[in-house]
Amino acid sequence: MKVAKVIVDVPTMQTDRPFDYAIPQALEERIQPGMRVWVQFGQGKREVSGMVVALADHADFDGELKPILAALDYAPVMNQETLALSHWLAQTTYAFWITCIQTMLPAMLKVDTIKSVSLSANPTAEAQALLAGQDRLVLDSHTEASVSAQVMRLIDQGALTLHYARKDRAKVKTEQYIVPLKTASEYAALRQSVRANATKQLQVITALRTWVNGGTEPALTAAVNNGDVDRAAVHAAAKKGWLRLDAREVYRAPYDDLDHGERTQPLTLTPDQAKVVKTVDAAVTSKQPTTFLLEGVTGSGKTEVYLQVIAQALKEGRNAMMLVPEIALTPQMVHRVKGRFGREVAVMHSGLSEGEKFDEWRRIQRGEAQVVVGARSAAFAPLTNIGVFIIDEEHETSYKQDDAPRYHARDVILHRAATFGAPVVLGSATPSLESRARAEKGVYTLLRLPSRINRQPLPQVHIVDMREAYKQGGKDDFSKALLDALQLRLDRHEQSVLLLNKRGFSSFVMCRECGYRVQCPNCDISLTLHMDTHTLRCHYCGHEEPIPTVCPSCGSRKIRYYGTGTEKVEASLNQLLPAARVLRMDVDTTRRKGGHEKILAAFGAHEADILLGTQMIAKGLDFPDVTLVGVINADTGLGMPDFRASERTFDLLTQVSGRAGRADKPGEVFVQTFNPDHYAIQYAQAQNYEGFFRQEMAIRHRGDYPPYYFTTKVTVSHQQEEAAAKLIYQLAKQLTDTLSASAVLLGPTPGPIARLKNRYIYQLVIKYKQEPQLDQTLTKILDETQVGTRNGYFVGIDKEPLTFI
Ligand code: ADP
Ligand code: ZN
Ligand code: ZN
Repeated sequence: MKVAKVIVDVPTMQTDRPFDYAIPQALEERIQPGMRVWVQFGQGKREVSGMVVALADHADFDGELKPILAALDYAPVMNQETLALSHWLAQTTYAFWITCIQTMLPAMLKVDTIKSVSLSANPTAEAQALLAGQDRLVLDSHTEASVSAQVMRLIDQGALTLHYARKDRAKVKTEQYIVPLKTASEYAALRQSVRANATKQLQVITALRTWVNGGTEPALTAAVNNGDVDRAAVHAAAKKGWLRLDAREVYRAPYDDLDHGERTQPLTLTPDQAKVVKTVDAAVTSKQPTTFLLEGVTGSGKTEVYLQVIAQALKEGRNAMMLVPEIALTPQMVHRVKGRFGREVAVMHSGLSEGEKFDEWRRIQRGEAQVVVGARSAAFAPLTNIGVFIIDEEHETSYKQDDAPRYHARDVILHRAATFGAPVVLGSATPSLESRARAEKGVYTLLRLPSRINRQPLPQVHIVDMREAYKQGGKDDFSKALLDALQLRLDRHEQSVLLLNKRGFSSFVMCRECGYRVQCPNCDISLTLHMDTHTLRCHYCGHEEPIPTVCPSCGSRKIRYYGTGTEKVEASLNQLLPAARVLRMDVDTTRRKGGHEKILAAFGAHEADILLGTQMIAKGLDFPDVTLVGVINADTGLGMPDFRASERTFDLLTQVSGRAGRADKPGEVFVQTFNPDHYAIQYAQAQNYEGFFRQEMAIRHRGDYPPYYFTTKVTVSHQQEEAAAKLIYQLAKQLTDTLSASAVLLGPTPGPIARLKNRYIYQLVIKYKQEPQLDQTLTKILDETQVGTRNGYFVGIDKEPLTFI
């Protein structure tokens, strides 16, 4: 008997291992590792989906095996490499294997289980009343709790029978094609038999004749849009047997126009670029899984280096994967890659619809794409035979996922690179301290692009001391220096970019009378003001309410809006510089699909003089007429109790400064700050990454922070504060007992937000150099606390968390 080892879609610790299932005879030839199956699980008659991870000739289990009920795939959706990757991911992130598998697959491949009940053979009057004559009652998240309870009781009594059904979300898009069914001479004869005034029919026949001659079967919609045929006439002709309509699978191609445009040619490399490309190419050719850290100032031509390295891999018959931070995956970036490699490029990011993502994924899966460009989760794309991996802006925090599995895309890529024997290029103008330190130790190979293309100077950066600004004629959030610089650009018909740093900062509503701030009822945090919808919203749980007109605390009407929102800055700009045309780019103006693209296209077409935005304007934009960059508030992030605050501030200022003067015109940058002497701001002014790196490393060394120490954060939550606190102290003790003397335990403390979604949070952070036991201890903790999950406990483990707060 053949046995399949299946990871079932029941994410708990007890079920986090393969279970044996018998493969029924009918499926014996078909079931393969990497296929989704439908099985019964556990004591009840529960039915769930699962993933076959291996086959075996006999079971490890003595009892009678349950059979696989159905295969959900015709071909595997995971291969050996991606299956192994999912297992590795589960082990290194302390996440359930099934959760990892689901993270790696497109959302459309998630199988929904539909539960319903029907009357049993011995229904009670209550059960009959509940079903009220219907065959089935479907139970879902909309089912009221009281009904659920009633249903459970009736199932226990044997009055109702529970059923499970599956719903695969995957929808393959099809399009109708016209297939001519007759010969050219038959169509000619047909033409004679049709009335002369039946023009639409005659048109169809004429078209069919040319299609037969040309040997083509056109798409119906395209033929109608071309004016070749009338849709109704085609359907009529199909009924008469003149043609057949054939539904064929098509891809949702989000970048169709780019796929068929003209290709760009590789640029002649500068000597610096050539050296880098040559070094990486050699590693591609010799299949060396070397990790290169490419440290190149903004505008040094890193992207061209990536493209030529990719070309080398393709030349050798191998594929390439390139990760770009979500917000840098702009149309400009896609243009540059698609412009070089065309339809061979698959693009994956969150801006695509589920269907588009699924189709891009299938193109990769089927070997129809040779290059994958995408954000964090594209690291899991089922690309095979990979010859080179690239991570652009490798320091970006968006490469780390916040929820389980808490993986860092860089780790995933390094793991896959070792499997494929392929080099990795980590590129950045401001490498993360971790990566730069690894290069220092020789773990990574450091490559440099020290100057901008054409030796263009880096923009001149002015620091504006905001403590003095108002004495010197500044208004609202603007210093006089920045206003003058903006005015100069208006006079010269050049463009400016203004950054409003939103890190550590949000708009809120406060009562001026009593100081009351509106709080989320579920979380210990103030609600954020959203002017577009005129509501207050909680960014953690999604709670939303109208802006009060009367203070809920003291009844005063003096409710005021606080915080420098982009809208407020836009309003003052309109007053201070009435002639300037301003485009605003933030979460509110880019929420709709394509909003981002539209704003950038308008700015590129000079429909505005100033682009005002949040962090999302700092990356990857390349507009030749931007000669001024202004940072309205450089230091909001510096005040955060986060050991990476300086690094983030330095990165942001360096990146945004890089947006100025990228073409032939020199650029200027004005950074407004209340901390003009802070070293992060000073080094950013000098665009001196190496200087910043040395000083920051010394500070990290003194504080025993990464990269000198590894860190792991353990979080506990419970609806009762006491329960959460008790457990975290218990875990702290358990950890201290097993850790060596060199390890440091921070906490336990209440979480930075002490209550989230009505759950109290406690946390602790472990800092350590070498703890061979730690992995085992943490796994054990997860194992043991799982029993408590039913009592409302939740334990999360985050290796190398982005923040301790
Ligand atoms: P980075 O990614 O390092 O910020 P880019 O790759 O965007 O830099 O390059 C900056 C500009 O220089 C782009 O407009 C790019 O087309 C141009 N460029 C890059 N390499 C070359 C080259 N070898 N010759 C001419 N122009 C180049
Ligand atoms: Zn009040
Ligand atoms: Zn909330």
